[in-house]
Amino acid sequence: MKKINNEFIKYFDKIYKKDKNTFFKELENNLINNKKQFIITANPETIMVSEKNEELRNAFLDKETVVVADGIGVVKGAKEYNYPISETILGIDIAEKLIQLADLHNKKIFLFGAKPEILEKLKSSIEEKYKNCEIVGAVNGYVEDKNEVFKEIETKEPDIVLVALGIPLQECLIYKNIDKFKKGIFIGIGGSFDVLSGCKKRAPKIFIKLKLEWLYRITKEPKRLKRFYDNNIKYWLKIKRNKK
Ligand code: UDP
Repeated sequence: MKKINNEFIKYFDKIYKKDKNTFFKELENNLINNKKQFIITANPETIMVSEKNEELRNAFLDKETVVVADGIGVVKGAKEYNYPISETILGIDIAEKLIQLADLHNKKIFLFGAKPEILEKLKSSIEEKYKNCEIVGAVNGYVEDKNEVFKEIETKEPDIVLVALGIPLQECLIYKNIDKFKKGIFIGIGGSFDVLSGCKKRAPKIFIKLKLEWLYRITKEPKRLKRFYDNNIKYWLKIKRNKK
């Protein structure tokens, strides 16, 4: 039996263990039944930042929050401590699925985040492709008072709220405001609007298949290298050190 004495255990314990199809079925049920839900998509960065940021940590560990593995690093890290997670469930895939489900069930979506031109493109492409869902609001991520945006979201009573501001801001804002809502599926999805709008390319299929999307992003944006070191290399060093 492997030694289980690690500060990351609390996170691995919390992460959704079942497969993606089951998760999507539960998601659809929640949407149909107006069940409020906050989804955090966790990768090693989310765990490393949670260690330093109390607000994000509280959101992550809250029993009402559903946390899915948004990267292979989390699935492999959890495995080191005998926490089997079926597979990764990526934020961008959840966002796409939510938009499809909104269309299928005539639901209302609110988009919050990214640069104005990206948001506009995304909004038009959703409206063009999906005729049965309604975008009840779209606010770019560079407005001054981001808290104020949640007041607008409240008045629109959306069924789905996609927040693309980057971690930890998106999770902290959702967590701070979620009690005011009676329904809605809330999720922070980082740079996904950039990709979903078609403004930024997702990694070629082979990278996705080999679970190397992170590597593709670094080669495209070398400035991510420091972020990668701080959040991924250090994450593994911690896991390996704690297991000795
Ligand atoms: N962003 C924003 N407002 C801000 C800071 C960031 O809307 O004040 C957006 C940014 O335009 C990008 C996303 O948040 O679309 C963060 O992207 P990043 O690639 O850093 O996130 P990741 O997917 O790596 O978590």
